[in-house]
Amino acid sequence: EQHLAKPPLTIRLCGPRGFCAGVDRAIQIVVLALKAYGAPVYVRHEIVHNRYVVEGLEAKGAVFVEELDEIPPEHRNQPVVFSAHGVPKSVPADAEARNLFYLDATCPLVSKVHKQAMRHQRLGRHVILIGHAGHPEVIGTMGQLPEGSVSLVETVEDAEVYLPEDPDNLGFVTQTTLSVDDTAGVIAKLQERFPNLQAPAADSICYATTNRQDAVKEAAPGCDLFIVVGAPNSSNSKRLVEVALRAGAQRSLLVQRASELDWDEIGPISTLGISAGASAPEVIVDEIIEAFRARYDATVELAITAEETENFLVNRELRGVPLTRE
Ligand code: SF4
Repeated sequence: EQHLAKPPLTIRLCGPRGFCAGVDRAIQIVVLALKAYGAPVYVRHEIVHNRYVVEGLEAKGAVFVEELDEIPPEHRNQPVVFSAHGVPKSVPADAEARNLFYLDATCPLVSKVHKQAMRHQRLGRHVILIGHAGHPEVIGTMGQLPEGSVSLVETVEDAEVYLPEDPDNLGFVTQTTLSVDDTAGVIAKLQERFPNLQAPAADSICYATTNRQDAVKEAAPGCDLFIVVGAPNSSNSKRLVEVALRAGAQRSLLVQRASELDWDEIGPISTLGISAGASAPEVIVDEIIEAFRARYDATVELAITAEETENFLVNRELRGVPLTRE
């Protein structure tokens, strides 16, 4: 039906969206390590949860492994980078035992949560970690303290039944990428049951998570469809899908690439919201907007709720290595 004019579409593009300072820094660390030390540079776990980013770094000579024992002995002198999500203390200890040279790309805001958990413990408190079981950040935060000193609480239901040994000596921290609203509910339930529960000195949910959720809340009401660019294993991206639905979008989809868009499933729409998780590169947002422009007469409106100026320094070993941006 080439003769028909394209249907009109309003795209509400959220800002802030996409890369946060922690993801940007982690990618820079791998790129700079490749420049400074040459390939291969090993990376333990996906540096950030995005295939496009991982494949781009692989093309430059990064080699992704899940565990340190996958690094061949002849490459012991090449650096290994730990991902932005953070690692249990056993991982750098293991790297030292194996005489590996490691560069830690743990986001400084995740390290801050680690410090808060350790502080609770130093003050004699049992630590409650609010987060999602199995996520690498949760594994990393739990692994800052000896086994048994951290309890994971995922939901309000968990908070209702959690039975601590000493209800008067508890402190909590959270994963950095949770839903701000859901987490407030879990904390309220815990505080109701344990009035002496101690909060961390600073919020654990990071600025990037909070800002991306705020912008989605602003843009989502009245959207026929809300697309979040992000990976299925990206915690902060999955939360944006939930936030969009709760804020009033009719439907919401997590999309990794424009090629995944199923036009039959999308059907007729007139208002589309778009955001991107903290690990999703802007080129994929562009690619998705272009795919809609090809089928619709699209007008892009911005839904900007904050300005971000955060910028985190790379590891000392890598400062001074020139970074040419692509
Ligand atoms: Fe750091 Fe937040 Fe980005 Fe995670 S989402 S890497 S905690 S800034």
